[in-house]
Amino acid sequence: MILASRISKLNPSYTMQMAAIASRMREEGVDVIDFSVGEPDLPTSKHICNAAITAIDNGFTKYTTVSGIPELKTAIKEKVKRDNNIDIETDQILVSNGGKQSLYLACQSLFEKGDEVLLFSPFWVSYPEIVKLTDANPIVIDTKPENNFEPNFNKLSNKISSNVKGVIINSPSNPTGAVWSDSAVKNILKLAKEKGWVVFSDECYEQLVYEKPFTSIASLNEYNAEVITFMTLSKSYAMTGWRVGYAFGNSKLIKAMSKLQGQETSCVNSIAQKAAVEALTGDQSFRVEMKKTFKRRRDLMFSLLDDIPGISCTIPDGAFYAFPDFSKYLGTHFNGKVFNSSTQLSQFILETSKVVTVPGEGFGAPGHIRFSYAISSDFIKEGIKRVKQALKKIKY
Ligand code: PLP
Repeated sequence: MILASRISKLNPSYTMQMAAIASRMREEGVDVIDFSVGEPDLPTSKHICNAAITAIDNGFTKYTTVSGIPELKTAIKEKVKRDNNIDIETDQILVSNGGKQSLYLACQSLFEKGDEVLLFSPFWVSYPEIVKLTDANPIVIDTKPENNFEPNFNKLSNKISSNVKGVIINSPSNPTGAVWSDSAVKNILKLAKEKGWVVFSDECYEQLVYEKPFTSIASLNEYNAEVITFMTLSKSYAMTGWRVGYAFGNSKLIKAMSKLQGQETSCVNSIAQKAAVEALTGDQSFRVEMKKTFKRRRDLMFSLLDDIPGISCTIPDGAFYAFPDFSKYLGTHFNGKVFNSSTQLSQFILETSKVVTVPGEGFGAPGHIRFSYAISSDFIKEGIKRVKQALKKIKY
């Protein structure tokens, strides 16, 4: 069988590959510590689960409107006003199977061959792949930890051609956890307005910002740039498996995305939509507790990482990832084997200490390794202890 060339051009998800390794090892009875997790380890709250059970009991089990049930759109509208201080209309909202599907639909609706889309590295693994699937070119702008992973706006202009049609921002970021300053956001919005770009703001970690209140990019849009915002219940309410996310922005774009979704997957699961209404409108104490838990774990994780010789790591303000720089270990060797990439280093850590991490290459950041702290404090302590012991074997 000959597959379409778009499949061979597509890289598999690094994070999902590492998660699959962790789960295989667990099944084999290996005492594995898994830092590759991309989801809260807490269960979905009972009141949300009960709303789903009620939906089933009431027979709410059929297709719904493609773009989402009116009750959920109203809940999203109210949530976006309450939490993000943004006014939107119902026709500016699309409910999708997670933020990922919304991102895919927006890219398919806007980009095509000849277009360029700006991404900032380190980037979430799926952005370049989703852009490539439209035949547009992802253009990667490097950012540095010492600049809070924000772009250097003077250098940025060298990378800009007239083919750029969009820019993807992810703050708080996966994998760095960095939260962009308001001034960096405003710089991009100003540039986007001048150049006519569409700004994609992936705010899937909006509820996990620790030191200051989260500010949604669209709420800073004094330049009136075209912004489409992506949010999800996955991380905010520990609902990754329910598959509910949403996008809001220009109603013409939302209508196009909805048309595509109608031919692709139809509506989001009806039962999950009812659960999402309860999540957004019901008791919000879960979010507060989850944030406290993750902040404690973040502080623990960083104090332990700080104690490992040869790596450097800035404490990020959001999400649940640490993204330390291991580049001092590149070019080193153990038992005659040279470590030329963080993938090889990550593999060494896995083999030596049964600790699963995600190498930086998939995020466009060779030399770095991602550690998730969406696992218990005991696992964090044990996992980092093992990593430290493994690295002791290497002379850097
Ligand atoms: N965006 C980022 C940066 C992510 O890390 C993820 C999931 O890991 C998503 C979007 C998609 O999440 P979901 O499709 O579950 O809403």
